[in-house]
Amino acid sequence: MATTAGVYRNGNHSRNSQSTNNNKAEKPLSFNPNPKNSLKSKSLPGSGLRRSAPSSLGTAKDDTGVPGRVRVAVRLRPRNEEEMVADADFADCVELLPEVKRLKLRKNNWDSDTYEFDEVLTEFASQKRVYEVVAKPVVESVMDGYNGTVMAYGQTGTGKTYTLGRLGEEDTSARGIMVRAMEDILADVSQETDSVSVSYLQLYMETIQDLLDPTNGNISIVEDPKSGDVSLPGASVAEIRNQKSFVELLRLGEAHRFAANTKLNTESSRSHAILMVHVKRSFKGRDSILSSETGNNPHMAKSLKPPIIRKGKLVVVDLAGSERIDKSGSGGHTLEEAKSINLSLSALGKCINALAENSSHVPIRDSKLTRLLRDSFGGSARTSLVITIGPSPRHRGETASTIMFGQRAMKVENMLKLKEEFDYKSLSRRLDIQLEKLIAEHEKQQKAFENEIERVTTEAKLQISESERTYAVELEKERLNNQKEYMESIKKLEEKWMMNQQKHAGGENIAGLKDESSNWISNGEDSRVANMEELSEMKTKLQKETLLRKAAEEEVNKLKSQLAELKKSEASAKSDISKLQKKLEDEACQKEKLEGEIAILQSQLLQISFEADETARRIDKGWYEKVPGSLDSLMLQVRQPQNNDSGNGEKASIAKLFEQVGLQRILSLLEAEDVDVRIHAVKVVANLAAEGFFLVLYQHFASPSFYGQHQLIQNCASSDIPSKTNQEKIVEAGGLKSLLMLLRSSKDETIHRVAAGAIANLAMSETNQELIMAQGGIRLLSMTAGSAEDPQTLRMVAGAIANLCGNDKLQMKLRGEGGIKALLGMVRCGHPDVLAQVARGIANFAKCESRASTQGTKNERSLLIEDGVLPWIVQNANNEASPIRRHIELALCHLAQHEVNAKDMISGGALWELVRISRDCSREDIRTLAHRTLTCSPTFQAGMSRLGIDY
Ligand code: ADP
Ligand code: MG
Repeated sequence: MATTAGVYRNGNHSRNSQSTNNNKAEKPLSFNPNPKNSLKSKSLPGSGLRRSAPSSLGTAKDDTGVPGRVRVAVRLRPRNEEEMVADADFADCVELLPEVKRLKLRKNNWDSDTYEFDEVLTEFASQKRVYEVVAKPVVESVMDGYNGTVMAYGQTGTGKTYTLGRLGEEDTSARGIMVRAMEDILADVSQETDSVSVSYLQLYMETIQDLLDPTNGNISIVEDPKSGDVSLPGASVAEIRNQKSFVELLRLGEAHRFAANTKLNTESSRSHAILMVHVKRSFKGRDSILSSETGNNPHMAKSLKPPIIRKGKLVVVDLAGSERIDKSGSGGHTLEEAKSINLSLSALGKCINALAENSSHVPIRDSKLTRLLRDSFGGSARTSLVITIGPSPRHRGETASTIMFGQRAMKVENMLKLKEEFDYKSLSRRLDIQLEKLIAEHEKQQKAFENEIERVTTEAKLQISESERTYAVELEKERLNNQKEYMESIKKLEEKWMMNQQKHAGGENIAGLKDESSNWISNGEDSRVANMEELSEMKTKLQKETLLRKAAEEEVNKLKSQLAELKKSEASAKSDISKLQKKLEDEACQKEKLEGEIAILQSQLLQISFEADETARRIDKGWYEKVPGSLDSLMLQVRQPQNNDSGNGEKASIAKLFEQVGLQRILSLLEAEDVDVRIHAVKVVANLAAEGFFLVLYQHFASPSFYGQHQLIQNCASSDIPSKTNQEKIVEAGGLKSLLMLLRSSKDETIHRVAAGAIANLAMSETNQELIMAQGGIRLLSMTAGSAEDPQTLRMVAGAIANLCGNDKLQMKLRGEGGIKALLGMVRCGHPDVLAQVARGIANFAKCESRASTQGTKNERSLLIEDGVLPWIVQNANNEASPIRRHIELALCHLAQHEVNAKDMISGGALWELVRISRDCSREDIRTLAHRTLTCSPTFQAGMSRLGIDY
């Protein structure tokens, strides 16, 4: 493939076929025109829920990415006026062949070297084209939730700032990459759910300054040891809403930018300018069942999906001129500057060389620039580099070295990773709102119901008393009437009877006086007739009376039946009331059920948060010692929970749960018949047990000597630490016993996992450790360790045993009941999280043993060696997972402390590992410990000389 006049350079040492450049048939090197397609499998919002099981969050198995090589374009600046004159008689030192993406660098008049790039941009290439081939694919990746870097490298005056930073206000076609990238970003984000913010910085003489706020000098870089993400918490961050405000910011930054004049170009800069654009986008999770308010569905929480947030970061770097500094030679503190500028740039060159050659050591920590760009080269970002060159043969040397830099960068392979996470805060907020709504709705219904019952009751009472009153009045009236009529008729009858009597007596007298015989007959006739008349009159009257009486009686009967009727209706009203009361009780029952479901819902939410935080919880003491900054932030969480939304929300939720359900009730649910209920109850207890975690950490680390600020600790103690932790409450209420019983009696894997997790959390305190041992916990945990298959269960069990291993008093018993064998047995699972816990347990145990032997209370060989731990730890001492490796390294150092173990360690191959640790271990304290042990122990000394180890 070598051309007639030169050597064909790149592609020869490529690491894989993807970076092979000289095979035309493959055509692999065009800038990926459509990253959306190539990343589809990772970036669809729907399938983006690939971390559907919360337990997989933050675990290593999700860390696979998409391979993406660093792409490099070369751009040639047109001759400037000076060159037109000075170089008029000379040809350009380069010749571009854009169709075949090659560049020829002239050696002399008859010989040249040829290089191939991903893109070759001639002096005629427009700013638009440069943006489209260099930056647009990167910007699109950032919009999809990946990190991206666009960087310009080249000699001062070759057009780096022209390419990246032109604002193009007078001539929009001249706009550079920064402005065009922001245009594309703003066009694509949603103003409601997404946010765009920028920081603009300058790195000059190993000091990072804030270009948005010149008073803000010397900003420090913070690295997240877990994710490897770098951030600059001290830098100002400006929220961008429109293009105008962004251009305004760039102008402001440019005004602040330190630019030292050089001989080559008055506008050139010796500082590195770094623009960081953070794009945060939110995608809705599926939660249709929750929002449809089905209320009584106990499984409603199962389809609950929190929204997903994707955070892409675009970094645009305008590097300082790549020329050797003596050439630009201006006065002042140039020499100092030269050193510093060379420091960052040469460190960048070294890193890229190391990455290109696939070397095991990449000196990232050598400069601030390389620390800032760790994700851009060999990291998880999509990276595009534009190298700028000038045409002048006078600068052929610089041009050649720029080209070589670009060639090496093309060999750097990145692994693109999606930066997405669940938005727990908004899920929790939504759940809270839902909960409030349910409670309010329920209260409203109950109130309405009570009112209704009250109304019906008063109405019925009123009706009854009204009827009774009218009835009594009517009855009395009727009685009086009848009585009166009766009396009157009696009186009349008496009068009549009297009158008749008198008449009789009078007639007899008169007859005696008058003609007795004649008159008597006629008188007798008359009176008889009159009597007869009177009698019949009386008879009718009597009949009338009888009728009246009958009518009265009927009236009375009618009233009586009316009364009975009323009584009946009263009884039915009463039964209505009791029915309503029954209904009310049912409602209360329903409410209780609803509350139970709300509790389950909350426990699930807590479970999600709990497991998401698990990585943090797994972090052990060693890590904190190594990274005190992180402990600071953790302490801050403990100290200022009000500043921490999610922490606060979780605490509040647990408190609410406590209030609503009560610990006793939760513990009693551990024995519920329904497996689902039991599982949720265990989860709630696990969460409650985990809540004490920060307290335990606090007690562990907040000794004045460790933290050094007495006042701070007093604040912690007085304000935010509860007087009695949930853990204590759980243990007091017999929760530990119930959890252990669940390990024994339940067959359900989930219950095993969550119960073991809760026990692991409880096992962080010394008192609980003793209780767990006394209640036969180690046997139960060993039993579970032997039977479980789910790595998460094993991780919890191993974590619990590992905690117990750290208690000096329990060593013999723990070993005697098979704890160490059980721990070792779990390595069969092979999951790195489980192995890390096993390693931690062994390290804890070894530490206690070494303490005991130092104090002279133990003289025999290590129980760990007795139980056959040595082969496994030797085999894994250099495990690639750092938590496993670190614990084992510690364990080996502790075992080696005691001379009685030395022979076994040498024959088991541990000596090699100790030597390695003393030389290579990244932790200085472990390294020193290993070194001291090796130099002090005569057995090891002898072993090393026997094995020919030169120490
Ligand atoms: P650097 O940032 O690499 O030091 P500059 O971007 O400041 O270089 O460019 C130096 C000079 O060259 C500026 O005057 C700029 O306008 C000019 N220049 C650079 N690239 C081009 C180009 N592609 N077309 C026209 N002029 C250019
Ligand atoms: Mg510049």
